Amino acid sequence: MTTATPVRGTERAVRWAELQDSARTLARRFEERSQSAYGAGEFVGENIRDLVDAGLTAINVPADLGGFEATLEENTRLLRIIAGGCGSTAFTLAIHAVLTGSMRSDLSVAVRERMFGAVRDGAFVVGPFTDEGSGGNWVRPSTTARRVPDGFVLDGLKHFATGFDAATHLVVTAGLDDAHLEPPFNLAAFFVEKPAEGIEVVAPWSGFALPMTGSHSLKLDGLRVDADDSVFPDGLTPLFVMARQQWGHYCFAAVFLGLAERAYELAVERTRGRATTAVSDLARLPGIQFAVARMRSSIATMDALLTEYATRHVDPGDDLPAFVADTCIPKYHITNEAEHVVATAFEVIGGSGIRDGSRIGQIWRDVKAGPLLPFSNDMSREFIGKATLGISPVETPRWV
Ligand SMILES: Cc1cc2nc3c(=O)[nH]c(=O)nc-3n(C[C@H](O)[C@H](O)[C@H](O)COP(=O)(O)OP(=O)(O)OC[C@H]3O[C@@H](n4cnc5c(N)ncnc54)[C@H](O)[C@@H]3O)c2cc1C
Repeated sequence: MTTATPVRGTERAVRWAELQDSARTLARRFEERSQSAYGAGEFVGENIRDLVDAGLTAINVPADLGGFEATLEENTRLLRIIAGGCGSTAFTLAIHAVLTGSMRSDLSVAVRERMFGAVRDGAFVVGPFTDEGSGGNWVRPSTTARRVPDGFVLDGLKHFATGFDAATHLVVTAGLDDAHLEPPFNLAAFFVEKPAEGIEVVAPWSGFALPMTGSHSLKLDGLRVDADDSVFPDGLTPLFVMARQQWGHYCFAAVFLGLAERAYELAVERTRGRATTAVSDLARLPGIQFAVARMRSSIATMDALLTEYATRHVDPGDDLPAFVADTCIPKYHITNEAEHVVATAFEVIGGSGIRDGSRIGQIWRDVKAGPLLPFSNDMSREFIGKATLGISPVETPRWV
């Protein structure tokens, strides 16, 4: 494990170059590993350990706590590289990156020092938010947090707990049972060490897409957390969460852009100089050339869009709903456009892509998850459309 040290100026530039080099080396290693592990849906635990050892899980430790304090844009760059090697690893890392990157400010001093001290020393943080009853609307949890002396007791069923097997710590959400806090303002988040009891895997993950993320379903049964584990002030959690949506949207978009970029590379590699008994050079076919051109321009557009948003649309400002709508734009565009690029790459590669264990086949499966992740296509369209038309997204009734 590489312990983070304060970095400035040239030293920072050197460290940034090293981090990218490590990510490239690891991406190649992860791609090799996934050849045997993808089909069986083996969890990417070994890859996560490699990321910790390379210091790639500690990049968001704040500078005042001795860390690199990576920007949001830097996080997206690294996730794109890792996704080129393994979508499951990149998505699992993305959850940790979103939680650690977005929580550098506005936390209580105690939680902040506990979280980043642990991350600096190799901790891996996961975020089971989605509940049995909430689906993607996890600001309205069905998991409950009942007040007891000095803390809370949590009960409920969580789905999609990505990375749970590798987790050392959790940010777990639940709804406070206080009568005066109407949903979604009863939402609370707790930062805890992975509990030894009160939480268990009830349905192990076996996903069609991102099969190696270990996104199990968890039962919380009388899980005890301390009052000091509460991450945000009571009643304000949904607002703090919304003000951090850029992290989720841009980091998730980065994973699916990374998958599209790798699909494009594979299509070009497979085609260049390849001859069949019917065609002397597949690259000379106009259909292949046009497909390559479409993929290349689409990737260049996604790259520009994500870079623009991850550098210039990161500050929530005063109009929170408008900001959230803004952050939906690259997530919505890129996760859907990435599917088109991957489908085109599949067509260019041809029938060999269907073979069991092909890398393009893995990417084709993984890329399907993008539009389903929050905010899903429908929720993104609703937020963007309402913001454009001057309608508040929290106004009720919502549709009539
Ligand atoms: C591989 C993978 C890993 C994941 N990892 C995590 C994780 O680590 N932590 C975590 O908390 N979650 C995780 N999730 C869950 C994810 O964050 C979403 O919560 C989940 O995919 C959406 O919930 P759902 O599928 O139950 O859909 P639902 O929310 O039930 O939605 C079903 C349909 O209804 C539409 N819909 C629902 N609500 C609205 C609305 N308000 N407005 C408009 N349309 C709506 C949706 O767009 C969708 O078409 C993961 C999901 C996947 C696929």
